[in-house]
Amino acid sequence: MDTLVLKFGGTSVGSTDRISTVAEIVKDASKEAFPVVVVSAMSGETDRLIELAHLFSSEPDKREFDALISTGEKVSASLVAIALNQLGLKAKSFSAAQVGLKTTAQFSRAKILDLNKEIIINTISDGYIPVITGFQGITDSGDTTTLGRGGTDTTAVAIAASIQAMRCDIYTDVDGIYTTDPRIVPEAKKLDSISMEEMLELAGQGAKVIQTRAVEFANKYEVPVRVLSSFEPGSGTMILKEEEGMEDAIIKGIASQKDQTKFTLHGVVDTPGIASGILSPVSDEGIEVDVIVQNVSVSGKTDFTFTVATEDRQEVEKVLKDKMTGISYDELIVDESIGKVSLVGVGMRSHAGIASTAFNALADAKINIQMISTSEIKITIVIDVNQLEDAVKTLHKAFNLDK
Ligand code: MG
Repeated sequence: MDTLVLKFGGTSVGSTDRISTVAEIVKDASKEAFPVVVVSAMSGETDRLIELAHLFSSEPDKREFDALISTGEKVSASLVAIALNQLGLKAKSFSAAQVGLKTTAQFSRAKILDLNKEIIINTISDGYIPVITGFQGITDSGDTTTLGRGGTDTTAVAIAASIQAMRCDIYTDVDGIYTTDPRIVPEAKKLDSISMEEMLELAGQGAKVIQTRAVEFANKYEVPVRVLSSFEPGSGTMILKEEEGMEDAIIKGIASQKDQTKFTLHGVVDTPGIASGILSPVSDEGIEVDVIVQNVSVSGKTDFTFTVATEDRQEVEKVLKDKMTGISYDELIVDESIGKVSLVGVGMRSHAGIASTAFNALADAKINIQMISTSEIKITIVIDVNQLEDAVKTLHKAFNLDK
């Protein structure tokens, strides 16, 4: 049975008119394969629910918080099912619990463990289109969890992987993946295709079109993913396994990220195990650490610096205070005025001199580099957040991505 997962983001289900359009898109898709629909909450709804909770407490009970912010998806799933019925198609909405979508128990950043694909397949066999809530799951003990902001992408790809769908179409309000954010660089170009690896790096470094974990799933289970607009017709961008003949630009795209915080432990007594002593308690909390730099030590002392998303700042401070043991240092410096810019491209593997081109361009633009980290297909540079947009423009030009 050929199935196709269609995911609709918040803006795509943002009003009753948009939901009617979604129903038309699903109807069209049903000519190609059996559709399975996964939806986000109507745009603004999750934010509204979060604000409501925060009217009571800056740290609401984690279980209740997830129970609350998962409700938006139930509304849109039922509305989409109603709209499909209206077009003469049979549809049934399902909450994550109803399709047995089990997650870990880390509220607000839960990870998908399993789901009951039989329920989905049987629904299709009975002649119905399943419309499933994104972003949420349940724990083994039945508590509702959520998967982190933008988590519906991950739900959709996980479902596609589980039912071995021919493709997962991610419908959003932009017509594909661009060489960089067109709001920063109007000359940015839409890509027809991009490799999973490149997309993984771009998403991880701030390209917001698709959630990073969704790309991880797609990569692991080899689900072809397409990103396209529900607002205008178009073929979007295919995210594919790297293959011969794919556009082999050295740099495929540039991502940038604000809202980053740099932690520096100054004067750490340098003994074996300090990196793990500092970072293990942080990662044990499920907090993602990004750029990490340890300086050469001078008279047995070193500086240890790492970056995290600013939304994790308070928790990191708490963890360092309460859970870090056996590390002695002089001072903790926390800096929220940084941003990251990343260049990504599989072509970097076979080309030298990419880093120096980037550094020269930034130097010419008088942008000071604070930290650098590189991988096989990515260079990430930490700079002053006020120069972030400048840096993106400069690098986009330096690598001729506008051509
Ligand atoms: Mg989204």
